Amino acid sequence: MLHTADGRRVIDAISSWWVTTHGHCHPRIMAAIRDQSERLDQLIFAGWTHQPAEDLAAELVRIMPRPLDHVFFSDSGSTSVEVALKMALGMFAHRNESRHRIAVLEHSYHGDTIGGMSVGARGVFNRPYAPLLFDVETIPFPAQAAEQLALDALERFCARGAAAAFIVEPLLLGAGGMLIYPAWALAEMRAICAAHGVLFIADEVMTAWGRTGTLLACEQAGVVPDILCLSKGLTGGSLPLAVTIATPEIYAAHYSSDRARQFFHSSSYTANPLACAAANANLAIWRDEPVAERIASLAARQSKGLSRLAEYPRITNPRQLGTVIAMDVAANDDGYLSEIGPTLKAAFAARNVLLRPLGNTVYVMPPYCIDDVDLRRVHDVIEEVCHEALPK
Ligand SMILES: *Cc1c(COP(=O)(O)O)cnc(C)c1O
Repeated sequence: MLHTADGRRVIDAISSWWVTTHGHCHPRIMAAIRDQSERLDQLIFAGWTHQPAEDLAAELVRIMPRPLDHVFFSDSGSTSVEVALKMALGMFAHRNESRHRIAVLEHSYHGDTIGGMSVGARGVFNRPYAPLLFDVETIPFPAQAAEQLALDALERFCARGAAAAFIVEPLLLGAGGMLIYPAWALAEMRAICAAHGVLFIADEVMTAWGRTGTLLACEQAGVVPDILCLSKGLTGGSLPLAVTIATPEIYAAHYSSDRARQFFHSSSYTANPLACAAANANLAIWRDEPVAERIASLAARQSKGLSRLAEYPRITNPRQLGTVIAMDVAANDDGYLSEIGPTLKAAFAARNVLLRPLGNTVYVMPPYCIDDVDLRRVHDVIEEVCHEALPK
């Protein structure tokens, strides 16, 4: 819940852009930050380390699937992706293998840095910077009944030579419009990459930490990537922090007495102690509190709300993965399509619900603590807005 200066209570139904997993100001996370703030605020993370980072790396390695066991810290989802791309190309370069081509999924989003934009869908958000973006191979989105097209395209990319890596948002493409594809297609894509020695990068910046119903979305496909990107819910959404977790193979390629071969990526706030303390508190919450039950309960309640909303003729393509529901709102006049997003957003805001449609796609992605009354209010407001606030 957000309390505004003019005294309104606003339901944060998108977890403040997909980060706030346990609700705002979770007492244990706030206490961990307060406590850490009295010990160590910031420390150079080259040649030095500190307990919160050591504890966090150890715990991440404990809960993540084998063989992901080398943790590299950075400070945002975008940088975790940059680091992943550099690790992939670095591994082949250090092995003197001429592999540098990268494949991406159609409609994908991997952040707003130059590398992140380069591996994301090209469009209105990055058109002015097109001259700066590097070339990638785009694999068609594995839409229902067209999965094979995607698999064939990936197979061709992998077979063509110079293929280094494939980066993917597992099961749910967020910024691309909350698009869902089946676990078996993810498993197939992973298998194709493995067969060709192409590194498989899972960008779970949005999908991890229970969003899709499991700790990682990859779990639902029985997939373990070569490189895993985590951020957003890593600190429960309280402070900026990211990790890129890699296999021993990638680590080994950078491990050498030749200092020119080390992995060069040093940002000032790498493994900031306050952020690591917040992440450790998040992991403690996952250990000690019934987080999985909360996620299952939210998913069930979202499912009920979605089936009700799906009955409205104006709402199409209702879809759900774990705690996330999404739907498209049809405009009678195509010309309204471009206007419908801002119209919806304003109508939701006027009803004290923070929802931020992606074009004409409305999605609900609340913190796991949302209660029945507030969630019902969010669903009711979507229904009400579709009835009353849209141009006929
Ligand atoms: C949000 C997001 C990013 C970028 O994370 P930032 O912290 O905003 O830089 C990257 N990948 C995915 C899948 C995301 O949803």
